[in-house]
Formats: sequence, C-alpha cells, structure tokens
Amino acid sequence: MFARALRLALSIVMIASFAVVGTVVTAGTAQADGCYSWGRTLKQGMSGSDVRQLQIRVSGYPGYGNVLALDGVYGPATAAAVTRFQRAYGLSADGVAGPQTFNKIYALQDNDCTPIHFTYPELNRCNSTWSGGAVSASTARANALVSMWKLEALRHALGDRPINISSGFRSYACNNAAGGASTSRHLYGDGVDLVGSHSFCTLAKRARYHGFASILGPGYPDHNDHVHVSTRSSRHWNAPNCGI
Ligand code: ZN
Repeated sequence: MFARALRLALSIVMIASFAVVGTVVTAGTAQADGCYSWGRTLKQGMSGSDVRQLQIRVSGYPGYGNVLALDGVYGPATAAAVTRFQRAYGLSADGVAGPQTFNKIYALQDNDCTPIHFTYPELNRCNSTWSGGAVSASTARANALVSMWKLEALRHALGDRPINISSGFRSYACNNAAGGASTSRHLYGDGVDLVGSHSFCTLAKRARYHGFASILGPGYPDHNDHVHVSTRSSRHWNAPNCGI
C-alpha cells in the first residue's frame, strides 16, 4: 500500500517535471523556418548577422520619420523597432527578440524571405534578372526585400487590406520607357509605386511611420495616380494635396 502510494507520488512528480521541461523547451526554442532561423535570443548590446536579419524584418517599425539602420548592431533604435513590431502583433512588448517574436516573423515570411503579402515578381515587372539598374542585381533585389518588409508593416497598420504595386525595380531601359527621373530610386530596387484599396493620401500619410525616407503623392508632379515610396539618404516627402 505504501509502495503503491510512493509509486503514484513519484509518477506525479515525474509527469510534473516532464510538463515543466516541456514548457521550457517550447518557450525556449523557436521553430525552424524555410527562410532563416534565429539560433539565440537577441537583445540590446548584441551584434551580428542574425541581428541584421532581424533589423530587415522590423525595418517597417522605426517610428515616425525614422529609417532603421541595417547595421547588425542591436542598439536602442532596434530595440524600439522590435517593441513596435511586438505591439503591432499583440506580443508582449519588451524589445527583446526571443522565440515569440521569431515565431511571428516565421509566420509572416515565405521561404524566400519575402513577407507573405509581397513577392519579388511584384517588385520587378521590368525584367527577371534585376540587372541593368544603378546597382548590382543582388543589391537591387536586397533593397527590394527591405522595401517589402516596410510595406508589410504599412499594410498591417492599415488594417491588413491589400496594397498593390504598379512599379518597383527598373533597369535604365525600363526607367526611360516609364519616363522616370534619371536618379529614380526605382533604379536601386527600393523605389515602389503604390496603388490599392486605400486612398493615396492614406497611403502617403501612413508611410511616414514605416521607414520610407521618400514619399511622393497627390499634388507632386506625375504622382496623382499612385504614391511613390523609397529609402534614400535624406528625407523627401512631398504630397501637397495630402498636406505633406
Ligand atoms: Zn515611383
């Protein structure tokens, strides 16, 4: 009788410790992902290529008027961007990127590392090679990827309704054919022309929060039928009909 009670008590303890261990494993290990998997929790003070991969994913959360540096250094701006990302998706917002944050990112990305609502072909209706622009094909493609993550943030902030892209990367030939400026960011891969289910002014105004240094829209010459966004070194916002 005593032995049975002891065995029962032991098995309860074993089940309990197994459950605890199981919980810890679940909380401490992010699932593998087809695109990129983080192997450690990231927080302020750390640096590395894994930090830079995170920065690309949260580049749409720099705060109003800011552009997040993709420098692989987890400083205050990166922590703030992670916090805004966490808040946007209802996660506990502590600015530390752990399994919960990574799992959300995994759910938001396709196997080619593009966010689920945007694709490379959408960002390049010019050619399939990404060549012929102002930068190498790989740089143009990488720039387009960052723009896509910013657009994913913009799309989410505007209620998850579709944002469509009328033009993205352009070679010089495509840019000339489109009548684009000779220094157009479309030549660099990060310039994107937006249309879609929102008014142009809604897109232009909200884009100010999501990492776009350039926003051109209604009232700016040749921008009454789309909103142009891109990343460049200095701010250039101009959409007079929207009060920008
Ligand atoms: Zn444009």
